[in-house]
Amino acid sequence: MSRSVYVNGDYLPEGEAKISIFDRGFLMADGVYEVTTVIDGKLIDFDGHFTRLQRSLDELGIENPMDRDAWLEVHRQLVDQNALDQGMIYLQVTRGAPGDRDFVFPDPETTKPTVVLFTQSNPALVDSPKAKKGIKVITIDDIRWGRRDIKTVQLLYPSMGKMMAIKQGADDAWMVQEGCVTEGTSNNAYIIKDGRIVTRALSNDILHGITRAAVLRFAQEAQMPVEERSFTVQEAMQADEAFVTSASTFVMPVVEIDGARLGTGAPGPLALRLREIYIEESRKAAI
Ligand code: PLP
Repeated sequence: MSRSVYVNGDYLPEGEAKISIFDRGFLMADGVYEVTTVIDGKLIDFDGHFTRLQRSLDELGIENPMDRDAWLEVHRQLVDQNALDQGMIYLQVTRGAPGDRDFVFPDPETTKPTVVLFTQSNPALVDSPKAKKGIKVITIDDIRWGRRDIKTVQLLYPSMGKMMAIKQGADDAWMVQEGCVTEGTSNNAYIIKDGRIVTRALSNDILHGITRAAVLRFAQEAQMPVEERSFTVQEAMQADEAFVTSASTFVMPVVEIDGARLGTGAPGPLALRLREIYIEESRKAAI
């Protein structure tokens, strides 16, 4: 069935949606994005994603084309028009299409940002077969640029990392800088040792995950100690448990790192408990 998508103010069948060849998102990866999860037809942590969108746009000097309520309305329209029960809403804002290619940013008075949103249905988000088995990760060098805190559409290296993992029979890659894990290709990374949850502290080195913020809050509420600090690959391979978080995978247990099995090789009890709490609490707060 053809989806209804949103492009610059219009809701259109996906086959009719078009973007200029001069769009700076296409030519320069000059754009940012967000992915908001939908469960039971409701948005998970909409305000967290809106706040990060605003921050990404501010960091790049792109004007936010809509206020919070207008963004919410578009998200809700797309959920309704596509009868989306479980899945994601992808949104992208670029610096627009100035009508030619130039390294110099166009005048924002004459070139307005491009806005695109579409839905992705995935009925297996909550009841995920992968979460029951856990995922395997490999480690790769983190050669991305130095502003990973901005959620830009420059995703070629993370995409290549994912392919390197798949080629080696794993599911994802953890990226490593100076011996320490930064994050997964599209998620934040955690280990658990002796009941303590360890994850890299926020900086320009990683994306400030919206799911990360929620999960750390829930962990503290459940009296699980959290340490926000860097950890080495060696330390990760000797951990009791590991997991990743993202809007679309929630809390996903990791059972193997570079071929080293963690614990029994099955998802760890604390990761599974955090997944349960995250899903339950997020469902309650969804709008
Ligand atoms: N880190 C990276 C590099 C990501 O691409 C993502 C999500 O796309 C995340 C972390 C997790 O962020 P969030 O929890 O907001 O989805």
